[in-house]
Amino acid sequence: MSDKAIRKIVIVGGGTAGWMTAAPLALKLGASCEIVLVESPEIGTVGVGESTLPTIRYFNHALGIDGTDFVRRTKATFKLGIDFCDWGHLGNRFFHGFSDFGPTIENRPAFMYWLRLARDNPDMPSYEEWSISTAMAHENKFVPPHGDQPGPTNAYSYGFQFDAGLYALYLREYAMARGVQRVEGTVGHVEQHPETGFIAALQLKDGRRIDGDLFVDCTGFRGLLIEGVYKSGYEDWSAMLPCNSAQAVPSALADQLTPYTRATAKPAGWQWRIPLQHRNGNGHVYCNAFMSDDEAGRVLLDGLDTEALDTPRQLRFTTGRRRKSWVKNCVAVGLSSGFLEPLESTSINIIELAVGWLIQYFPDRDCNQELADEFNRLVAQRYEFVRDFIVLHYKLTNRTDSEFWRYCADMPIPDTLQHQIDLFRSAGRITIYDREGFQADSYAAILLGHGIRPERTDPLIDRMDQARLLDHFRKVHATIRQVVGAMPGHAALVAQITGEPIRKS
Ligand code: FAD
Repeated sequence: MSDKAIRKIVIVGGGTAGWMTAAPLALKLGASCEIVLVESPEIGTVGVGESTLPTIRYFNHALGIDGTDFVRRTKATFKLGIDFCDWGHLGNRFFHGFSDFGPTIENRPAFMYWLRLARDNPDMPSYEEWSISTAMAHENKFVPPHGDQPGPTNAYSYGFQFDAGLYALYLREYAMARGVQRVEGTVGHVEQHPETGFIAALQLKDGRRIDGDLFVDCTGFRGLLIEGVYKSGYEDWSAMLPCNSAQAVPSALADQLTPYTRATAKPAGWQWRIPLQHRNGNGHVYCNAFMSDDEAGRVLLDGLDTEALDTPRQLRFTTGRRRKSWVKNCVAVGLSSGFLEPLESTSINIIELAVGWLIQYFPDRDCNQELADEFNRLVAQRYEFVRDFIVLHYKLTNRTDSEFWRYCADMPIPDTLQHQIDLFRSAGRITIYDREGFQADSYAAILLGHGIRPERTDPLIDRMDQARLLDHFRKVHATIRQVVGAMPGHAALVAQITGEPIRKS
């Protein structure tokens, strides 16, 4: 090991981000590096963040976590996507499933064929009916996709919905079993090297001192190190992502264990429902310039489909991202690096990526600037890609029933997103520049779900034999119905994994 090598890493924060950072670092570095995680007993975690993307499975897999054990210990359920209600207009409903429509043909996703067929066949089933994940979601069915050959009956993916506190605890056990030291204490002061400005040590309020070579800031919205020490700055995206508040409350389980998260648009935002094995997680995300906190609380409780198990908890945030997530020997991961609001459950995914990049661009003790620059570029780009996708949901609205939705319809949006919308409206095409994020199927689900229909269809699809194409689609539709009909229910599968029946609270 070089004499410049990092010998001690200090992670500040024991929320989802802190333990999701500690676990892979412990696995990768083993005994070659001391890892200390400091968490404050007096400052709690944000306590939400229970709906994920399919990439969480790769993260867990890379740690060698057993899927069955994970489902049992974190009270997890399976997630095929998000059920959007009242988005676009009141009474509207559509499903955004993960990787719904399988492989592309000649770079043309299935929605392009559907658009062409629907033009001449008004009685065609809706686009969603070609999607196996939507069919499974509507019937509360779930099995993991299987089979080597990709086809319409396994062209879906899945993530998890889990108890965030239990997941952090699970990773904590994992990390501590691999040598991570956990320190309970609150950081009161940060010592910097007088010449380099690097962080030298943290002083805890009780007088203890923790030195280190690399400091990972997982302190949540406050960004204790990245902002408190380095004044990294914040790019505020409130003008296009206006929600800045949330209230969260657990509720009793419903009759059905849905394999999806539900997002219902409300007059000044939207409400989530995340089913877990032991309870539903619920929250109302809203903009307090358009609705008071009191009213938001009432909207949340009125929107529950089962009895509340607690009183709502208030949260406040500013959408946007830290200008730099890595400064000198400090790297911010999690809410300390930014937050885009939870509509598409992307925050935990950004943590997964950030930890992966930290390992990929792992520095020596001098933390050369080029590594920090590359990390910052990747993080910034990721936030921007995700931002555009989330803004799309608001911008496409036809709702005029509240000031909030009228604002969203008129608000300025990034040129990158305007281009995507124009390209789709005029020519029915979607171009994806981000190979790791939401793909054309996801954009199509949101655009078509909002009722946007392009002016033209693809001229090369126009030239195909339409009768054969229609026949093919009808067969796919029938196969999906048949396969989903034979699948087990979601609750039954979860009960089989955990060995315990799902009980209403
Ligand atoms: P926190 O959970 O806030 O943890 C901060 C930690 O820092 C705590 O342990 C605290 O004790 C410690 N700390 C702070 N200051 C000090 C100090 N001075 N000394 C010592 N320790 C300190 N993400 C998703 O992917 N899916 C979702 O469905 C989702 N829903 C969300 C809904 C809402 C309303 C919000 C606000 C967020 C949501 N997120 C979601 C985001 C998700 O909750 C976070 O990304 C995730 O929980 C990580 O949080 P964190 O660990 O960065 O911060």
